[in-house]
Amino acid sequence: MDQLIHFLSANSNIRHATPESADFADLREQFVIQETRTPGIIVRPRTIEDIASLVKVLTINNLPFSVRGGGHDMFGRTVVEDGVSIDMREVSHIHVDKASHTARVGGGVIILDLHREFDKQKVTTAHAVTPTVGFTGWAIHGGYGLLSTNYGLGSDQIVGARVVDGQGNIVDADETLLTAIRGGGGSVAVIYELVIKVYPSEKILGGFVAYQSADLVATIRQYNENYRKLKYEKIPPAMGLFQGVIDGPGGRLFTIFVLWSSSDLEEGQKWVDRVAELAPIAVKNVAPTTILEFSELVATLTEKKSYATIFCPGFYDLTPEVTDVIGTYAKNRPNYPGPAFGIHELRAEAPREFANSVFNARDPHFLVEILALAASPEAFEELREWGQRFYDALMKTDPANVYPISYIPLNPDERLDFRLIYGRRYEILKKAKQQYDPSNAFKHSVVRP
Ligand SMILES: Cc1cc2nc3c(=O)[nH]c(=O)nc-3n(C[C@H](O)[C@H](O)[C@H](O)COP(=O)(O)OP(=O)(O)OC[C@H]3O[C@@H](n4cnc5c(N)ncnc54)[C@H](O)[C@@H]3O)c2cc1C
Repeated sequence: MDQLIHFLSANSNIRHATPESADFADLREQFVIQETRTPGIIVRPRTIEDIASLVKVLTINNLPFSVRGGGHDMFGRTVVEDGVSIDMREVSHIHVDKASHTARVGGGVIILDLHREFDKQKVTTAHAVTPTVGFTGWAIHGGYGLLSTNYGLGSDQIVGARVVDGQGNIVDADETLLTAIRGGGGSVAVIYELVIKVYPSEKILGGFVAYQSADLVATIRQYNENYRKLKYEKIPPAMGLFQGVIDGPGGRLFTIFVLWSSSDLEEGQKWVDRVAELAPIAVKNVAPTTILEFSELVATLTEKKSYATIFCPGFYDLTPEVTDVIGTYAKNRPNYPGPAFGIHELRAEAPREFANSVFNARDPHFLVEILALAASPEAFEELREWGQRFYDALMKTDPANVYPISYIPLNPDERLDFRLIYGRRYEILKKAKQQYDPSNAFKHSVVRP
């Protein structure tokens, strides 16, 4: 560590914090509260040259390091105990180029800040449902969200990148490297900047529909049976839906977040009404708004930091067998404010140009996020046990319906079989890894092929 401290004192443009620094506690904070795993030092580069020199100093001196964006890894893998945390949040530029329908986005930009800038420019892009997540950390691992069916996954938005490779070289990514970045996470490079696709966006329809939930098992089953039928009528790709159960002031409610992302709001309203009819309705609150306003609403529903973990099985279909388990466990969840689960869907109509990507989970499927989020360790333990039982019950349903590809960010290391996850794209990722990070400098990234 002395070599790094020496380097930082000679390069005072790179800010840093040690456990003795007044701002250390704030800087190390992540979405998941971690009382034990603490970085030895947090370094805060601003330029790509800073990152390149840092990677050189760290690798030459064999110092363990990890890269931090929005700090939303659910298993705390963003931090190496006593290691160096390269905190990317100072790399926060956002430049929209309307002529090329792209934007350059710094590797530490938080999605809510992206929405704020895009709102001014009247554009948008695919994004995570929860806007406190880091855009790069979300996009490079796949990136599900309410615009996935309209515009594709996060990885599919990436058209360029400026990075620092495992040897500290500054690289404008070629197609080989871009292919690895699209789904390969931070395993081959530190991403200084992504160039992403953007789409015109002004008014959208956004909000939620809550259904009568006295009998959660019946409501969730009915909604999903009717939803399956509605899909035969070809729901337009602009309609994004995210189902979940929330404990609110009105009790426990089965709720769907709705985001209609086309400018044809009249058509959107018709489809919102169809969705509202899928089960007996309690409240419908979907109105013309902007992606920014909608995301600000979602942000109010998510804790800033929690004792937390997640269980995230995938299914080809939400069959009655699966929804009955979801309903049963939603009903018997310990009382706690906030969401019990959320369901992402990759629909068949999602754009399918993904030849140049290692992200392999491309069949239509659902991801069930079982959330154990609590403000105290005691409440967390109770929720974690409930989540484990919920997961085990889901995994006892028809094995042929279980989607075999785990979503890396939302699964613990013991459930990550990278060969299985990347399938025939595994060798492409390995080849890029050998080319850009032959000495495995990024061994602490979430993806470890
Ligand atoms: C509340 C919550 C909501 C979520 N919602 C969604 C959702 O709607 N859809 C979805 O698909 N996922 C979702 N996720 C998962 C989330 O997208 C991933 O965990 C993502 O990796 C988090 O990125 P981050 O930058 O915030 O986190 P971090 O913990 O900072 O980063 C995670 C890892 O990404 C890599 N990384 C991040 N930035 C860089 C960079 N600039 N260069 C190189 N590597 C980098 C590093 O390996 C790092 O360890 C959610 C997670 C949480 C906690």
